[in-house]
Amino acid sequence: MPRRYGPYGGAYVPETLIPALQELEAGWRSARKDSGFRRELAQLQQDWAGRPTPLYPASRLSAEIGGAQIFLKREDLVHGGAHKLNNALGQGLLSKRLGKKRLIAETGAGQHGVATAMVGAMLGLRTEVYMGEVDMERQKPNVERMRLLGATVHPVTQGTRTLKDAINEALRDWITNVETTHYLLGSAVGPHPFPSIVCDFQSVIGEEIRRQSRRHWGDVPDLAVACVGGGSNAIGTFHPLLSTRTKLLGVEAGGDGTGEGAASLTRGSPGVLHGMMTYLLQDDEGQILPTESLAPGLDYAGVGPEHAFLKDSGRVEYTATSDAEALRAFHLLARTEGILPALEPCHAVAVAVERARAMRRDEKIVITLSGRGDKDLEVVASHGHPA
Ligand SMILES: *Cc1c(COP(=O)(O)O)cnc(C)c1O
Repeated sequence: MPRRYGPYGGAYVPETLIPALQELEAGWRSARKDSGFRRELAQLQQDWAGRPTPLYPASRLSAEIGGAQIFLKREDLVHGGAHKLNNALGQGLLSKRLGKKRLIAETGAGQHGVATAMVGAMLGLRTEVYMGEVDMERQKPNVERMRLLGATVHPVTQGTRTLKDAINEALRDWITNVETTHYLLGSAVGPHPFPSIVCDFQSVIGEEIRRQSRRHWGDVPDLAVACVGGGSNAIGTFHPLLSTRTKLLGVEAGGDGTGEGAASLTRGSPGVLHGMMTYLLQDDEGQILPTESLAPGLDYAGVGPEHAFLKDSGRVEYTATSDAEALRAFHLLARTEGILPALEPCHAVAVAVERARAMRRDEKIVITLSGRGDKDLEVVASHGHPA
């Protein structure tokens, strides 16, 4: 389990947190070797979460584009409607194994909070979620879902009262209650060992893609595309494909064109945030800049440290696309395939479609469709219908 990815990663945290991180790393090392743990996880992935998710040949979309054949990895069909449950389920089981009966989590748009609340209820673990006051106001249905699932939602009133402040509060809680509590971090970010653990639990996406693409066309994809917020669905897609010939492409949120969006890899620089060294959107003094995206799940000023390394190494290409392009991709997918996607993976779809046009008809692109769009319908509708 790497502590560093090149210069990135590490654990930039107060000393009081180090024992907890060490205990977590040791617990995870022993769990991943334990066939009983792996069997229990696989069983729940199947019976409770609905895995494996299909690899769907999007033939009407491909025909409309006229280029490479596009396949969609259907993480929108996971229980709860997004890939986030893969990680929440794995860490929930790990928490139980470590004897921690209380889960805490941070959430921005509320998707990770809901996934954690679902897992907490199913495993019988008390669940408390930190959420910025501003986000609670913007995402009322998810606050309601968490409460219905039996979780407590703590409003965060510090700073910008959004995701980054919620992470700070969750870290603070963990330092105080580390004996009884597991911090269920929601993306491939934070201090070591979180980025590695989250990558392991999300790699089920890429492992299934390898198996399913072999079954569909007897080879790996020519190109795999995923959207990058904190980077968990992307690293889960990419990691099992790193050793293959598949080209890998991560797509960040470019926002509305007035600022940097939330494109930390393409428009940021290295620095330290939330316990990790990585690419950040920051000013000259290292203060975090405000981010904006129509897709709430991409709205984060940092990114997982493994992505920072994969960018520098050149193994993965990263780019950004705008709110407007993502909206266009939403309507394209809705009308050619009968799928209402979340706005986050619409960023991946928008760029993949461009690439497909320049590729041969016998080439294959896999796009990870990280979630379904029910949560975004109001935002999409407010931008009007396409002509
Ligand atoms: C949260 C979220 C994302 C972004 O998170 P990553 O950790 O970058 O995967 C992407 N898609 C959906 C549907 C989400 O809910």
